Amino acid sequence: MKLTEDPHRRLNPLTNQWVLVSPHRTSRPWQGEVAHIKTEAEPKYDPSCYLCPGNARAGGVRNPAYTSTFVFDNDFAALKPGTQRECLDTDGLGLLVAQGEPGICRVICFSPRHDLTLATMTPGEIEPVVHTWMTQFRELGEIDFINHVQIFENRGAMMGASNPHPHCQIWATSSVPVEPENELAAQRTYLQSKKHCLLCDYIMVEQRQGKRVLFENDGFVALVPFWAVWPFEVLVCSRRHLGSMNDFISGDAQNLSLMLHRVTSTYDKVFGVPFPYSMGFHQSPTDGTVHPEWHFHAHFYPPLLRSATIRKFMVGFEMLGNAQRDITPEIVAARLRELSGSDS
Ligand SMILES: [Zn+2]
Ligand SMILES: [Zn+2]
Ligand SMILES: [Zn+2]
Repeated sequence: MKLTEDPHRRLNPLTNQWVLVSPHRTSRPWQGEVAHIKTEAEPKYDPSCYLCPGNARAGGVRNPAYTSTFVFDNDFAALKPGTQRECLDTDGLGLLVAQGEPGICRVICFSPRHDLTLATMTPGEIEPVVHTWMTQFRELGEIDFINHVQIFENRGAMMGASNPHPHCQIWATSSVPVEPENELAAQRTYLQSKKHCLLCDYIMVEQRQGKRVLFENDGFVALVPFWAVWPFEVLVCSRRHLGSMNDFISGDAQNLSLMLHRVTSTYDKVFGVPFPYSMGFHQSPTDGTVHPEWHFHAHFYPPLLRSATIRKFMVGFEMLGNAQRDITPEIVAARLRELSGSDS
């Protein structure tokens, strides 16, 4: 079987999910198609933006005249800290089960500037954002009923981002959500059976093969995972075995800032538009126990497929069977490496 030609399945060892790869359906290497759509430049300050400094939010609270990052509790929080964590099995058969989910939702503005993105901010401007994430992760993780802290960014209207102002969200929950729960189980099983960390081993294999690695610095490595589902999916891992931002030492915040800037600015070159994506950090649960199996990483899931307007939909076989892709992760990695080195 040739991974460059024949239809095959690839296993995601972090989730134990398969993805179907159909390389023969892309008859020629991906050409790259730069958008002809004009994206209107955002103003530096938007009087109607509820995230800009000094503006009023829903409910009438006024933002301070902040000059760096700004954190507040989400006015439309999906979770509430006071919820009782009780489990209901309404019919006693385990078929109608519900559980109370106490949690905290916050919003972090990356910058007072309405018109910036991680791609257009400098690494030096991103560094205070990383420090804010570190503070928030520690603070929320230390709360008794918080057992998992999910930091994530939805970028672009295509991903449902309601506001272009550079910001992210934190949903801190009592339960470990499904994705990290699956990854926790897989990493734990791997550590028990191989006596090594799954992602430490995976990074070593990728560095050895070199085909899917995009770039590295002293702290982090970015690659297109072998099992990527989204066309331009990227995984960023710490090179050292860190469980979470709580393990960061001097230099890590700076290196992560450089890495996030490199990934997002490379994305913007793919179709010549601000690239939409959902990204987030997967960190060790904050449940008060040690997690030697967990390895700090971030996932970037961009929806775009062949152009600035054609997105991938998870429908049909993907809804009923499993995820599928045509263009291989190896071709995408080569293209992203090429773009990251170009100044266009
Ligand atoms: Zn704004
Ligand atoms: Zn590791
Ligand atoms: Zn993950």
